Amino acid sequence: MEIIIGRKGNQKTPITDPTVSREHCKVFVNPDGTFTIENLSQLGTKVDGREIIRATARLNSRLQLGQSFSATLLELIGDPSASSRNAVINNDNPTHSQVKTVNSQDSTQEKTKAYNISHLRKVWEDYNRTNVEMAEKQRKINLSRTGLGIFTMCAMPTIFFFGPVGYALTAIGVLGNIFSFVGMRNAETAMERQRRQDAFDDAWICPNPNCGHSLMAKNYKMLLRNFQSCPYCKCKYIEK
Ligand SMILES: [Zn+2]
Repeated sequence: MEIIIGRKGNQKTPITDPTVSREHCKVFVNPDGTFTIENLSQLGTKVDGREIIRATARLNSRLQLGQSFSATLLELIGDPSASSRNAVINNDNPTHSQVKTVNSQDSTQEKTKAYNISHLRKVWEDYNRTNVEMAEKQRKINLSRTGLGIFTMCAMPTIFFFGPVGYALTAIGVLGNIFSFVGMRNAETAMERQRRQDAFDDAWICPNPNCGHSLMAKNYKMLLRNFQSCPYCKCKYIEK
Protein backbone atom coordinates (compact mmCIF):
# COMPACT_ATOMS: atom_id res chain seq x y z
CA MET A 1 0.00 0.00 0.00
CA GLU A 2 1.21 3.49 -0.87
CA ILE A 3 0.12 6.83 0.58
CA ILE A 4 1.14 10.24 -0.73
CA ILE A 5 1.49 12.91 1.95
CA GLY A 6 1.15 16.58 1.00
CA ARG A 7 -1.34 19.36 0.29
CA LYS A 8 -2.67 17.24 -2.58
CA GLY A 9 -1.87 13.93 -0.89
CA ASN A 10 -4.28 11.14 -0.02
CA GLN A 11 -3.38 10.99 3.69
CA LYS A 12 -6.14 10.92 6.33
CA THR A 13 -5.57 14.39 7.78
CA PRO A 14 -5.63 17.25 5.24
CA ILE A 15 -2.58 19.55 5.16
CA THR A 16 -2.97 23.26 4.37
CA ASP A 17 0.49 24.48 5.44
CA PRO A 18 1.80 26.39 2.38
CA THR A 19 5.40 25.31 3.07
CA VAL A 20 4.41 21.70 2.45
CA SER A 21 4.62 20.51 -1.15
CA ARG A 22 1.57 19.22 -2.98
CA GLU A 23 3.18 15.79 -2.96
CA HIS A 24 5.75 16.01 -0.21
CA CYS A 25 6.60 12.43 0.60
CA LYS A 26 5.47 8.90 -0.07
CA VAL A 27 4.69 6.26 2.57
CA PHE A 28 4.86 2.55 1.80
CA VAL A 29 3.25 0.16 4.25
CA ASN A 30 5.67 -2.75 4.63
CA PRO A 31 4.40 -6.29 5.25
CA ASP A 32 6.21 -6.41 8.62
CA GLY A 33 4.20 -3.45 9.93
CA THR A 34 6.93 -0.85 9.46
CA PHE A 35 6.76 1.99 6.96
CA THR A 36 9.15 3.29 4.36
CA ILE A 37 9.14 7.07 3.89
CA GLU A 38 10.48 8.51 0.66
CA ASN A 39 11.05 12.23 0.24
CA LEU A 40 9.51 13.71 -2.94
CA SER A 41 10.01 17.40 -2.20
CA GLN A 42 12.80 19.95 -2.75
CA LEU A 43 11.81 21.31 0.67
CA GLY A 44 12.96 18.16 2.43
CA THR A 45 11.45 15.59 4.76
CA LYS A 46 12.66 14.87 8.28
CA VAL A 47 11.88 11.69 10.21
CA ASP A 48 12.50 12.07 13.95
CA GLY A 49 14.59 15.13 13.34
CA ARG A 50 16.76 13.66 10.61
CA GLU A 51 16.75 14.69 6.98
CA ILE A 52 15.96 11.64 4.85
CA ILE A 53 15.81 10.56 1.24
CA ARG A 54 14.38 7.19 2.12
CA ALA A 55 14.02 5.75 5.60
CA THR A 56 12.19 3.21 7.66
CA ALA A 57 9.68 4.60 10.16
CA ARG A 58 7.10 3.49 12.68
CA LEU A 59 3.69 4.85 13.55
CA ASN A 60 5.09 6.95 16.39
CA SER A 61 7.81 8.46 14.15
CA ARG A 62 7.54 12.23 13.79
CA LEU A 63 7.57 13.67 10.30
CA GLN A 64 8.62 17.25 9.64
CA LEU A 65 7.67 18.55 6.23
CA GLY A 66 8.86 21.86 4.82
CA GLN A 67 9.38 24.79 7.19
CA SER A 68 7.00 24.22 10.07
CA PHE A 69 4.69 21.27 9.56
CA SER A 70 5.13 18.41 12.01
CA ALA A 71 3.01 15.37 12.82
CA THR A 72 3.43 11.74 13.73
CA LEU A 73 2.84 9.13 11.06
CA LEU A 74 -0.12 7.89 13.12
CA GLU A 75 -1.72 11.37 13.02
CA LEU A 76 -1.21 11.56 9.27
CA ILE A 77 -2.32 8.15 8.07
CA GLY A 78 -3.93 6.47 11.09
CA ASP A 79 -3.09 2.87 11.86
CA PRO A 80 -3.69 0.81 8.68
CA SER A 81 -3.48 -2.50 10.55
CA ALA A 82 -5.72 -1.35 13.44
CA SER A 83 -8.64 -0.44 11.19
CA SER A 84 -8.79 -3.95 9.77
CA ARG A 85 -8.14 -5.50 13.15
CA ASN A 86 -10.85 -3.40 14.83
CA ALA A 87 -13.32 -4.31 12.12
CA VAL A 88 -12.75 -7.99 12.86
CA ILE A 89 -12.89 -7.44 16.63
CA ASN A 90 -16.09 -5.39 16.44
CA ASN A 91 -17.80 -8.09 14.43
CA ASP A 92 -16.70 -10.74 16.89
CA ASN A 93 -17.28 -9.15 20.24
CA PRO A 94 -17.39 -5.45 21.10
CA THR A 95 -15.81 -5.93 24.55
CA HIS A 96 -12.51 -6.86 22.91
CA SER A 97 -11.67 -3.18 22.58
CA GLN A 98 -11.32 -3.10 26.37
CA VAL A 99 -8.83 -5.92 26.18
CA LYS A 100 -6.80 -3.79 23.81
CA THR A 101 -6.60 -0.95 26.37
CA VAL A 102 -5.27 -3.35 28.98
CA ASN A 103 -2.59 -4.47 26.54
CA SER A 104 -1.40 -0.94 25.94
CA GLN A 105 -1.08 -0.43 29.70
CA ASP A 106 1.06 -3.54 29.78
CA SER A 107 3.44 -2.07 27.27
CA THR A 108 3.90 1.15 29.31
CA GLN A 109 5.04 -1.01 32.22
CA GLU A 110 8.04 -1.96 30.10
CA LYS A 111 9.82 1.20 31.23
CA THR A 112 11.69 -0.80 33.85
CA LYS A 113 13.03 -3.31 31.34
CA ALA A 114 16.66 -3.29 30.30
CA TYR A 115 18.06 -4.37 26.96
CA ASN A 116 21.56 -5.32 25.99
CA ILE A 117 22.96 -2.96 23.35
CA SER A 118 26.36 -4.59 22.80
CA HIS A 119 25.34 -5.78 19.30
CA LEU A 120 25.00 -2.11 18.33
CA ARG A 121 28.73 -1.64 18.83
CA LYS A 122 29.36 -3.86 15.79
CA VAL A 123 26.60 -2.14 13.79
CA TRP A 124 28.23 1.22 14.43
CA GLU A 125 31.81 0.00 13.92
CA ASP A 126 31.00 -1.66 10.58
CA TYR A 127 29.20 1.43 9.35
CA ASN A 128 31.90 3.80 10.55
CA ARG A 129 34.79 1.70 9.21
CA THR A 130 33.24 1.68 5.73
CA ASN A 131 32.66 5.45 5.95
CA VAL A 132 36.32 6.00 6.78
CA GLU A 133 37.48 3.60 4.05
CA MET A 134 35.29 5.30 1.46
CA ALA A 135 36.49 8.77 2.47
CA GLU A 136 40.11 7.59 2.25
CA LYS A 137 39.52 6.00 -1.16
CA GLN A 138 37.91 9.20 -2.38
CA ARG A 139 40.82 11.26 -1.05
CA LYS A 140 43.34 9.06 -2.91
CA ILE A 141 41.34 9.30 -6.13
CA ASN A 142 41.15 13.10 -5.85
CA LEU A 143 44.85 13.36 -5.07
CA SER A 144 45.96 11.15 -7.97
CA ARG A 145 43.63 12.87 -10.43
CA THR A 146 44.89 16.32 -9.42
CA GLY A 147 48.51 15.15 -9.59
CA LEU A 148 48.05 13.55 -13.01
CA GLY A 149 46.26 16.66 -14.29
CA ILE A 150 49.16 18.87 -13.26
CA PHE A 151 51.70 16.39 -14.70
CA THR A 152 49.89 16.29 -18.06
CA MET A 153 49.57 20.07 -18.17
CA CYS A 154 53.32 20.45 -17.56
CA ALA A 155 54.27 17.66 -19.96
CA MET A 156 52.41 19.06 -22.98
CA PRO A 157 54.56 22.23 -23.45
CA THR A 158 57.73 20.10 -23.34
CA ILE A 159 56.75 18.76 -26.78
CA PHE A 160 58.01 22.10 -28.18
CA PHE A 161 61.36 21.82 -26.42
CA PHE A 162 62.12 18.11 -26.32
CA GLY A 163 60.07 16.72 -29.22
CA PRO A 164 59.74 12.92 -28.80
CA VAL A 165 60.48 13.05 -25.05
CA GLY A 166 57.67 15.61 -24.69
CA TYR A 167 55.29 13.33 -26.59
CA ALA A 168 56.25 10.42 -24.37
CA LEU A 169 55.69 12.44 -21.17
CA THR A 170 52.32 13.68 -22.43
CA ALA A 171 51.33 10.12 -23.38
CA ILE A 172 52.22 8.92 -19.86
CA GLY A 173 50.08 11.70 -18.39
CA VAL A 174 47.11 10.93 -20.61
CA LEU A 175 47.36 7.18 -19.96
CA GLY A 176 47.55 7.89 -16.24
CA ASN A 177 44.39 9.96 -16.45
CA ILE A 178 42.56 7.18 -18.28
CA PHE A 179 43.83 4.65 -15.74
CA SER A 180 42.65 6.74 -12.77
CA PHE A 181 39.29 7.31 -14.47
CA VAL A 182 38.83 3.54 -14.74
CA GLY A 183 39.91 3.19 -11.11
CA MET A 184 37.09 5.50 -10.05
CA ARG A 185 34.68 2.61 -10.52
CA ASN A 186 35.92 1.29 -7.18
CA ALA A 187 34.42 4.29 -5.42
CA GLU A 188 30.99 3.89 -3.84
CA THR A 189 28.11 5.14 -5.97
CA ALA A 190 25.40 7.35 -4.48
CA MET A 191 23.00 4.41 -4.69
CA GLU A 192 25.35 2.05 -2.84
CA ARG A 193 25.92 4.72 -0.22
CA GLN A 194 22.15 5.15 0.21
CA ARG A 195 21.64 1.39 0.51
CA ARG A 196 24.38 1.19 3.15
CA GLN A 197 22.80 4.12 5.04
CA ASP A 198 19.40 2.41 4.90
CA ALA A 199 20.83 -0.83 6.27
CA PHE A 200 22.45 1.11 9.10
CA ASP A 201 19.24 3.02 9.87
CA ASP A 202 17.32 -0.25 10.01
CA ALA A 203 19.79 -1.72 12.49
CA TRP A 204 20.38 1.46 14.53
CA ILE A 205 17.18 1.15 16.54
CA CYS A 206 16.00 0.69 20.11
CA PRO A 207 16.71 -2.96 21.10
CA ASN A 208 13.22 -3.30 22.60
CA PRO A 209 11.35 -5.33 19.94
CA ASN A 210 8.09 -3.56 20.87
CA CYS A 211 9.68 -0.16 20.30
CA GLY A 212 12.28 -0.30 17.53
CA HIS A 213 12.51 3.47 17.47
CA SER A 214 15.49 5.05 15.79
CA LEU A 215 18.28 5.79 18.29
CA MET A 216 18.96 9.40 19.23
CA ALA A 217 22.72 8.91 19.53
CA LYS A 218 24.68 9.35 16.33
CA ASN A 219 27.41 6.93 17.36
CA TYR A 220 27.99 4.12 19.83
CA LYS A 221 30.15 6.17 22.18
CA MET A 222 27.40 8.79 22.49
CA LEU A 223 24.84 6.05 23.01
CA LEU A 224 26.84 4.73 25.99
CA ARG A 225 27.56 8.16 27.38
CA ASN A 226 24.38 10.19 26.92
CA PHE A 227 21.53 7.93 25.87
CA GLN A 228 21.27 5.13 28.35
CA SER A 229 17.52 4.86 28.10
CA CYS A 230 15.00 5.06 25.29
CA PRO A 231 13.02 8.35 25.22
CA TYR A 232 10.08 6.52 23.61
CA CYS A 233 9.64 3.23 25.48
CA LYS A 234 11.74 4.29 28.51
CA CYS A 235 13.61 0.98 28.50
CA LYS A 236 17.18 1.00 29.84
CA TYR A 237 20.17 0.28 27.63
CA ILE A 238 22.86 -1.84 29.17
CA GLU A 239 26.12 -3.17 27.76
CA LYS A 240 26.90 -6.73 28.74
ZN1 LIG B 1 12.63 2.16 22.79
